[in-house]
Amino acid sequence: MNAFRNAMPKILLVEDNEMNRDMLSRRLQRKGYQVVLAVDGKSGVEMARTQAPDLVLMDMSLPVLDGWEATRRLKADAATQHIPVIALTAHAMSSDCEKALEAGCDDYDTKPVELRRLLGKIEAILSGGGMASGGESAS
Ligand code: MN
Repeated sequence: MNAFRNAMPKILLVEDNEMNRDMLSRRLQRKGYQVVLAVDGKSGVEMARTQAPDLVLMDMSLPVLDGWEATRRLKADAATQHIPVIALTAHAMSSDCEKALEAGCDDYDTKPVELRRLLGKIEAILSGGGMASGGESAS
């Protein structure tokens, strides 16, 4: 990790499954991340505005507003469009992954989460090296 970066990046985890949410947030906190939680897509969009996280982990299958629509709204709002979003798709279905990128997600990972792989993607994006095409600023 870059010592000059914010010591505790803030991650917004949007996940409706309580067990997944608890487990992933605990493991991220143990790695030094500050974690804020939302349980559906609508509150995820609101939390992104009020909490200004460094990154969003977005489950795609969510109540009220699914992860694709929530991501579209984040990327359509000037206040939140710069925040990188990593989609968490339930299946390794390429159509879901493509849909996530089309909705504006910067990257995706498949569930069940393999923590080391996900951490690699989080760190790549936070250090500015992992943005998929479409990111406005690389530095
Ligand atoms: Mn879900």
